[in-house]
Amino acid sequence: MTDLRRHGIGMTSQRTRDRLAERLAEKGIRDTAVLEAIRSTPRHLFMDEALATRAYEDTALPIGHGQTISQPWVVARMTEALREIQPMDRVLEVGTGSGYQAAILGGVVDEVYTVERISELVRLARERLRELRVNNVHLRQGDGAEGWVDQAPFDGILLTAAPEEVPSELLEQVREGGRIVAPVGREGGVQELVALDRTSEGFERTVLDYVAFVPLIRGRG
Ligand code: SAH
Repeated sequence: MTDLRRHGIGMTSQRTRDRLAERLAEKGIRDTAVLEAIRSTPRHLFMDEALATRAYEDTALPIGHGQTISQPWVVARMTEALREIQPMDRVLEVGTGSGYQAAILGGVVDEVYTVERISELVRLARERLRELRVNNVHLRQGDGAEGWVDQAPFDGILLTAAPEEVPSELLEQVREGGRIVAPVGREGGVQELVALDRTSEGFERTVLDYVAFVPLIRGRG
């Protein structure tokens, strides 16, 4: 394993993270717990060393296998949107990728369950989260569109890969009163970031923003 602590200086320092959190606050992120999680999570450890100097720019970056680590603003916005619902203790994430979003979630909710279809990304994310002593994030390799039946229902479900429509399996795994936050739409097109709130009657849909995520791919990879 590479020594994850070696980037502890310069462009990857605490001060750089503090500035990122300040920028996100200026851009409208209000949830102080989310901002604190951004401050305390070393994003540069979730990407290739060659990109580490860009880790605290508010931008998505490649993590290999044609995938990206999400833009910090999007991570913060989605996490904040979930936490508008309380209690928000148990969250399922679909699309672990680097593990960064999962680590941020781990800082603000009790238990995080995250599913990734590419086994190498699962392995790397698991290693990073262990190194950072994030103990409340549970990872699994598989098709996240199937959810995580054994651990359902969840207070919230977060998709970080975009389906054209939220899979019905996921709709079934959020509790009544809970919320799904997901980018929805075609690859390459504009996607809507939606909140789906489960009521006794069905789902209430709110468009939160417009985003660009990699597509949700069905199957186990
Ligand atoms: N949350 C991530 C961003 C991940 S990019 C981060 O913070 O870094 C989206 C990820 O979703 C990719 O890693 C991709 O492999 C994964 N993905 C796509 N379709 C999937 C599916 N059906 N099940 C699980 N993961 C999927």
